[in-house]
Formats: sequence, structure tokens, C-alpha cells
Amino acid sequence: MPVAAAPDVLAQRLAAVVGAGHVLADPDMRAPFERDWTGRFAGRARLAVRPADTAQVAGVVAACAAAGAAIVPQGGNTGLVGAGVPRGGEVVLSLRRLDHVGAVDAGAGQVVAGAGATLAAVQARAGAAGLAFGVDFAARDSATVGGLAATDAGGALALRHGTMRAQVAGLQAVLADGSVLPRRAGLLKDNAGYDLGALLVGSEGTLAVLTEVALRLVPRLPARVAALVALPDADAAVALLAVLRAQVASLEAVEFFLDDGLQLVLDHLGAGRDPVPRAPVHVLVQVAARTDPTQELAAALASAGVDDRTVLADDGAGRERLWRLREGHTEAINAAGIPHKLDVGVPVAELPRFLAQVPRVVARAAPGARTILFGHLGDGNVHVNVLGAAPDDPAVDDAVLALAAACGGTISAEHGVGVAKARHLGLVRGSVDLAAMRRVKAALDPAGILNPGAVL
Ligand SMILES: Cc1cc2nc3c(=O)[nH]c(=O)nc-3n(C[C@H](O)[C@H](O)[C@H](O)COP(=O)(O)OP(=O)(O)OC[C@H]3O[C@@H](n4cnc5c(N)ncnc54)[C@H](O)[C@@H]3O)c2cc1C
Repeated sequence: MPVAAAPDVLAQRLAAVVGAGHVLADPDMRAPFERDWTGRFAGRARLAVRPADTAQVAGVVAACAAAGAAIVPQGGNTGLVGAGVPRGGEVVLSLRRLDHVGAVDAGAGQVVAGAGATLAAVQARAGAAGLAFGVDFAARDSATVGGLAATDAGGALALRHGTMRAQVAGLQAVLADGSVLPRRAGLLKDNAGYDLGALLVGSEGTLAVLTEVALRLVPRLPARVAALVALPDADAAVALLAVLRAQVASLEAVEFFLDDGLQLVLDHLGAGRDPVPRAPVHVLVQVAARTDPTQELAAALASAGVDDRTVLADDGAGRERLWRLREGHTEAINAAGIPHKLDVGVPVAELPRFLAQVPRVVARAAPGARTILFGHLGDGNVHVNVLGAAPDDPAVDDAVLALAAACGGTISAEHGVGVAKARHLGLVRGSVDLAAMRRVKAALDPAGILNPGAVL
């Protein structure tokens, strides 16, 4: 006679908090919460829970803490380092129902958004108020405010506005015992005690669950021009960057990709042959201002001596066409296989050396694997993507991250450490840093229930 499964007491407690319909125990219902965007990271969740507001999040965390159940906070599940999906047996706490976006406070230049609000929703609300949000990237329709803050997301506009950290004016969070850390007023000047909210930015769900974030907004700049510049090598790209920094006050983004990545994107998009000039290195520059910045950009490009094949776009459709070539990389790579994604940063002066050496170290670590490099040139932020290496083979990760560290860089520029790089943190953080981080973790989450295995 079959033995009936024991009722999950935790599931019953959670159902009392969020309603039975929002505690997902059925494997088919849990499945979307269990695999990451790349397909490289997956694990079975004990349950997926979908609270509706901060009080319910607090109730869920308190119930899990009482049961000693580990929690993986999850927003849009677009993270690329495996820390938003379970490793095996954790409760996935989905924040997506906390998707409110408040009215813009025009005087303060801020808006308050729930952790589950998407980046696109914040951008739309800011735009409707004649303002803009200083972070943007391709996953805008799914990535959430909580995920952005938890990973200290970067994106193409970080060159001008800084990373997510610079946009957070205050946040509300639920601590590991279920208590609620209230959001401060979002004052520009408020140094009364430790800035606990700032500590939680970039903590990747390991110190608290973020439930609401006050976001700084920036002026909306209606005149925007993009240029795609074809260059012979990475040295030329770095030289161009120096000219742009010195001469272009309206500079907003400086991105790069290489020709083999461009070909992959064109194949994926089914675009016609060579819609843009081909060269070893492509730099995508964008400028934005209140009045037409074309002349400022054109003068700088001329003084940098770039060739006349540069494509300029000053209308929305033209800019979008150029940005698709850059933003299409992540999707095109994913369509080609399960990639090792290594988001690293190196000092700009080291970029040419790093870009030249990566394919060599990858070839040694995983013979036959394919390396695709692109990223945010202005930030020295390179997305190293390796196709053709077994998903669980650590050799590629070890080699690339060691090279980034040897170039004086970081193993994580904007995606976070997650579970993908937790083993490598010691490459760029010394024993004093690591000991202090462990003490912070132990103080805020003594039982270790928040996102175990991520970061540390
Ligand atoms: C096509 C594509 C392009 C991308 N481009 C960029 C880019 O340019 N720049 C960039 O920085 N990233 C980029 N990313 C990565 C990703 O979108 C960001 O890391 C994003 O911030 C993750 O948000 P999310 O809501 O999807 O978080 P998730 O993937 O759900 O979670 C990410 C991490 O944050 C934690 N977390 C999520 N929500 C909360 C919360 N409320 N409280 C506490 N912890 C939480 C999770 O536990 C996990 O550790 C890209 C991803 C894709 C798929």
C-alpha cells in the first residue's frame, strides 16, 4: 500500500500567511522558479512562495526561520550567477507580486518602487513625470528593482550615472528573523548612524530580503545620438575612450563588442549580410543632452581620427538598430548553447592585454571552446562568454577569473558573485575583507538561512 506523503507543516504555515494559492508545492508550478536564465544553474525548491506585501514577506521569513528552512529570494530570475535559484531544498521567496510603483516625488526627484517592480515599469513611471531612471539594460522587462539593488546592477548608463548603488535613496527590508528594517526618508544628507540600506545593496539576498526601494531619478534628456565606430584593435578603442571622456560632456555610454560576437548576433537576428561596417572591434557610443549633441560627438570622433565608416543614428529606430547589435549578444549566446558567463572588470589601461589573453587561457582550459567578448568599455567591464565547455567544468571559470585578478581587476563587475564565483572571492578579497564579511553575515543572519552558498 502506498505511504501517504507527510504534510509539509511549513507549507501550511506559509499558506496561513500568503494564502494557499501562493504556496507552490507542485513540481510543475515550482519549475519556473527552479532554473536560471542561462540554463546553467538549477535545483529543486522545497516550495515557491509568493507574498503580496512587506508584512507577508516578514511572515514568510519568520515562519522559515522558525522551521530552520533556507530561503532563496528571487525577483525576475534574470540573474546570471546562479544565486536566484535553489541549489536543493530551499524555499524560493518570489518578490514579483510586490510590483507597485508610487507617484514620482518631483521635488525630491525620487520614486518608491516595490521590490518586484520591473526596471521597465520604473523607467516608464519616471518618463511620464518628465524624468528618467539612470540604469538600463536588456533584461529591463523582467529584472526587478529588488534584484537590481541586491546585485548592485550596472548596465550601459553606469558610465554617466553610476551603478544601482548610486540610485538607491533608501530601502525597506526584512531581516533574517522576520523583523522589518524601515525605509528612511530618502534624504540626500542623513548620516545618523550606520547606513544599513547601503550595506544591503549588492548583498545578493544573503543579508536580508529587500521589499521596497526609494530610487533617485535623473533629468530626461530628449536629444540622443548613437554612433557605431569600427576600429582595428582594442588599443584604438581605449584611445577613443580617452578622447570621448575629455571632449564629450554629453557622453552617456561607451560599449564594445568584437566581430565574431557581431556575426553571432546577426545570425541570431536573421539580419541581412553586413548591415554595418565590419572590423575587429566595434565601439558603440551614445550621447544625450537637452539640445542636439551631434556636433559635439562628431567633433570628438573626428579629433580621434576614426574612419568615415562610422554609423550615426539620431532617431529612435536607428539607435535601437545599433543597440540591438550590442544588447542582442546575451540572447544570441544563450541560443547557441549553455554559456559560462564571467562578468569581470579590469582597469581600462589593462583592457587590450586582457582581451588578447582571454581566448588563450580559455583554449588551454577547454580546448575547442568558443570565447565571445563584449561589454561596457567605459567601465572596463568585460562579459567573457564561453560556449562549448561543460556547464559544470570549473577550469574555464578558474582560468578567466585568475586572469582578471592578475590584471588588477575584479571577478564580478555587475552580475554579482552568486554561487558561480563564491569559490573565487579570495582572488580579489583578502583575509581581512573575508573575515569582516563573515562577521557581518553572522550578525545579520546567524542561522545562515538567507541564500546559503551565495557570495561567501
Ligand atoms: C539579457 C540580459 C542582460 C543583462 N544585462 C545586465 C547588465 O547590463 N548589467 C547588469 O548588472 N546585469 C545584467 N543582467 C543580469 C540581471 O538582469 C541583473 O543581475 C538583475 O539585477 C537581476 O534582477 P532580477 O530581478 O532578475 O534578480 P534575480 O535574478 O531574481 O536575483 C538575482 C540576485 O538577487 C537576489 N534578489 C532578487 N530579488 C531580491 C530581493 N527583493 N531581496 C534580496 N535579494 C534579492 C537573488 O537572491 C539573487 O541573488 C542581464 C541579464 C540578462 C538576462
